[in-house]
Amino acid sequence: MAVKGTDLVKLMPKRTGCKECGFPTCFAFAMKLATGGVDVDACPYLSEEAKEKIRDMLAPPIRPVTIGTGDRALLIGEEEVVYRHEKTFFHQPGFAILIKDTEEDGEVERKAKAAEEMSFIRIGRTLRPDMVALMSEAKDGGNFASLVERVAGMVTVPIILMADDPEVLLQGLEACGADRRPLLYAVTKENIDALLPKLKEAGVPVAVKASSVEELVPLTERLKEEGIQDLVLDSGTRKLWEAIRDQILIRRAALKQEFKPLGYPTIAFPCFMADDPKREVTIAAAFLNRYAGIIVLSDFKEEYLYPLLTQRMNIYSDPRVPMTVEAKVYEINGPDENAPVLVTTNFALTYFAVASETEATKIPAFLAVPDTEGLCVLAAWSTGKFGGEAIGEFIKKSGIEEKVKKKVVVIPGLVARIMGELEDELPGWKVVVGPRDATGLSSFLPELAQKA
Ligand code: SF4
Repeated sequence: MAVKGTDLVKLMPKRTGCKECGFPTCFAFAMKLATGGVDVDACPYLSEEAKEKIRDMLAPPIRPVTIGTGDRALLIGEEEVVYRHEKTFFHQPGFAILIKDTEEDGEVERKAKAAEEMSFIRIGRTLRPDMVALMSEAKDGGNFASLVERVAGMVTVPIILMADDPEVLLQGLEACGADRRPLLYAVTKENIDALLPKLKEAGVPVAVKASSVEELVPLTERLKEEGIQDLVLDSGTRKLWEAIRDQILIRRAALKQEFKPLGYPTIAFPCFMADDPKREVTIAAAFLNRYAGIIVLSDFKEEYLYPLLTQRMNIYSDPRVPMTVEAKVYEINGPDENAPVLVTTNFALTYFAVASETEATKIPAFLAVPDTEGLCVLAAWSTGKFGGEAIGEFIKKSGIEEKVKKKVVVIPGLVARIMGELEDELPGWKVVVGPRDATGLSSFLPELAQKA
């Protein structure tokens, strides 16, 4: 729930008129504060206590937490809604690969390389996994430090350091370096006293592990009191139903009840919840939907990772903004003056389906893409954005008429009915009805080329 300016007015110093904050009154300053348009420090007369209270009131209900540094740093949290359709989800969860200090050197290298280099292109976007989770299984500080040192030298992706023994964990931190902002996993009620002094000094993000959601609360409150606020929560259970229930409880407590001790992103471990990869990927998919900020997998196998990355892309795209490509004429397979002009809409999924099918035929073609505001073929046609008049106007303005001699324009089969209208708009052009679906281009384009 957004903070109202009137709530903040009650905390103002009531020196209306001094204007040192740059606003004519305390009321005006409070109103601006509520929208995030000014920093609380702009008023020199607010007490530290009042400032802290205001900062707390203005803080997002789920704290943003950054792990790692540089281009591959991962920002999680800061979500505002329980359901994506209420607005959008903002920060997609990170996928981490688990690497243990008991694994063979070759395996360590393969996994680190996968985290650093794997990538897939989908609808013009690059999809990549995000992190490595380095785990002490041998429970030996030296072993763990040497794993951390080795992997840290191989990757730029963010690192999670995992050890039960606080001494081993801190040796891992020293090997990694606090300046890389690794996530330390984990503070528990048993080790919090041993870890606190070093955590305060290091200033790195910290995972908090408990045996229930309730047990997380005193731990996060204590850490906050000590000035450690970049927290990631683990309610501890490894049973799927209970883990998903806990994720929902934490999200709803933070957003619906504005319960600050649970207002942090979460971490989930499908790697510890299944023995076979199919079950593990299914569990990971459940955590993607409900609401993990980090998802740790035992491996990154292409056939399991790609569906997860695709699911993440779909869930974390903004439902208020259609996925579009630039409206223009694209050249595919090096077209010359004899090439046909295919027409489609600027909905990204439609564009990439048509472009990739055309590319696969190796037949040169122009692809004219008018601005249909991200609508697919039928939706664009039904709203008047993809009729004969709109397409004709786009083709005339695009300059493509000067580039082609044969003047053959191919419209999608789904809008065959606009053929006559387009012929009226484009005298001198031959309008051809193409396949109803992009997959039909593989046979349609060779036939068209033969006839030409
Ligand atoms: Fe009020 Fe502080 Fe602004 Fe002065 S500087 S007008 S006291 S908010």
